[in-house]
Amino acid sequence: MLDVIKLLPDSVANQIAAGEVIQRPASAVKELMENALDAGATQIELVVKDAGKAMIMVVDNGCGMSETDARLCFERHATSKISKAEDLFAIRTMGFRGEALASIAAIAQVELKTRRHEDEVGTRIVNEGSVVKEQSLIPMSPGTTFVIKNLFFNVPARRNFLKSAQAEMRHIVEEFTRVTLMNPEVGFSLVSDGKEVYRLYPGNLKQRIMGLFGNNYEGKLLPVSQEADRVRIHGYIVKAEYAKKTRGEQYFFVNKRFIKHAYLHHAIENAYLEMIPKDSFPGYFLNIEVDPSDIDINIHPTKTEVNFLDVKLIYAVLHAAVRKAIGQHNLSPMIDFEVPADLNDDIGAASSGARPIVFPQIPINPNYNPFTQSRESHRDTWNDFPQHRQAPSGNWRLLYGERTDLPEEHSETETQAKSHSNDKYLQVSQSFILTTVKSGLLLIDQHLAHTRILFEKYLKQLENHDGVSQQELFPQAFTVNANDASLMKELLPALGSLGFVLEQANPTTFMINGTPSDSAGHDAVALLEKILDNYKINRTDLQLDRKLDIAKTMAVQLAIKAQTPLNELEMQNIVDQLFACNVSEVAPNGKKIYIIIGMEELMQKFTVKN
Ligand code: ADP
Ligand code: MG
Repeated sequence: MLDVIKLLPDSVANQIAAGEVIQRPASAVKELMENALDAGATQIELVVKDAGKAMIMVVDNGCGMSETDARLCFERHATSKISKAEDLFAIRTMGFRGEALASIAAIAQVELKTRRHEDEVGTRIVNEGSVVKEQSLIPMSPGTTFVIKNLFFNVPARRNFLKSAQAEMRHIVEEFTRVTLMNPEVGFSLVSDGKEVYRLYPGNLKQRIMGLFGNNYEGKLLPVSQEADRVRIHGYIVKAEYAKKTRGEQYFFVNKRFIKHAYLHHAIENAYLEMIPKDSFPGYFLNIEVDPSDIDINIHPTKTEVNFLDVKLIYAVLHAAVRKAIGQHNLSPMIDFEVPADLNDDIGAASSGARPIVFPQIPINPNYNPFTQSRESHRDTWNDFPQHRQAPSGNWRLLYGERTDLPEEHSETETQAKSHSNDKYLQVSQSFILTTVKSGLLLIDQHLAHTRILFEKYLKQLENHDGVSQQELFPQAFTVNANDASLMKELLPALGSLGFVLEQANPTTFMINGTPSDSAGHDAVALLEKILDNYKINRTDLQLDRKLDIAKTMAVQLAIKAQTPLNELEMQNIVDQLFACNVSEVAPNGKKIYIIIGMEELMQKFTVKN
């Protein structure tokens, strides 16, 4: 019998390889733009016709190529960027495989014009289906221009698979965004069918984000900046209140290379904690800088997946970075309480030290070593941090610029008596607390405020396992079905941390021997049912989410309700504790806790219009 195995001709092999790298016009756009960046260009123009199906042109002012290189760049595995295997772990360029141009040339008509700065003339090459059709010397300014025409002209099957011009254009814009975002010092433009879609001037990252997503981003962004031993994270996140209902602006880069990473994405979502409603997504534009030897990008031709050597470290640093950004933001709204000097009983201790302003601590544990953790606990970064969530108790007024030259000692009864007589707080409709601040009126929703306070308290207890319990004189039975019983068992450790003392009496019954001391007066069985219900709805494998879920349910259930009368001292406590929370603005369900009505707004309401 004859041998049946034949080597494929180069042209066919190239077409097959091209399929992996160039799936649609947007892939060619990405490769060409990345090449221009790698060539050190400071200005890159992208022009497309019919969403890139008819033509893609990329013009750069980068280093250009010699005549020989101009011919060679279309060969497979022709690259100037690596030469040996070790180089794969020191990659600082966007490209390195030497596959892109060979792939594009295999399936399109390519015209290349290129000139190095040191050369007097440039080289023009026309390559069609991997065959050089023309070559000549031409006058041109330094840099490189690639014109790609009739993509997939020789692979009709692929051409037919392309989507509508609108859909293909969306892909192009997305690639353009990814490439331009983390290179703000480079100018870019995108022209589609003769219309300018983007003109991005060189600038900083914030200006680039605004150039791409609109000037209204100016006030929406929070800077993120965190440097640890082997990783640096910089960029912007979008403030929680601008979270979107769709996964919109979520951009992760590693060494400026766009990546997708569900695990690291989770680090960010968790850092926003309860500030974003469940069905909304936070926006971010973050670059993670690591040593190239700490990542392996040689995984997939389209290269949006990256393997980190130590992904848990990056998770922890990322989580901390975003927490810090959010924490600093939440300190910034200036609320100047007009609290009489003699009410500042809690300032004494803090004012005697030299710490006028307490910023939230950066929650990085220098001893953190992901490899020494148990599998569960290192996914749960909450555990890995020391008490970073410890809010500065009671000295929140210092944060808001209150005077610190107050007498140090107050007897508690004296202060309380005064606070009672002072009528600083007024309850409205038994549901809101009204008080004055320098800039106007502060109106707080008592239920939401208390929910926030308890929520943070329970989170701490879940971390520290130090919930206080109260013994039940007559233990009640909590009976569930077999399915729920196994869920209950999953919840037992967390419930124990909060102060529940539960004992399984038989496969489906738990005896409630003790309850959290906060829950006095509440029906323990109803509370457990609620926790179990919510746990079932939001079921998740992640320890951290589980804790959030339980803390939220407990807080909502046990917080004082609307229509509850409060005395002056109770109101004062709520206000004090609210502003000692890590997040004071929003309740765990994302609702606003308070509003400030400014003096100006108030005055306007009294203005008579003639
Ligand atoms: P890679 O980028 O992986 O090296 P490519 O096929 O994309 O592979 O490009 C091959 C080579 O052609 C590059 O290594 C580079 O030397 C050269 N090249 C491509 N585009 C440009 C450009 N715009 N300016 C200068 N050189 C370029
Ligand atoms: Mg390349």
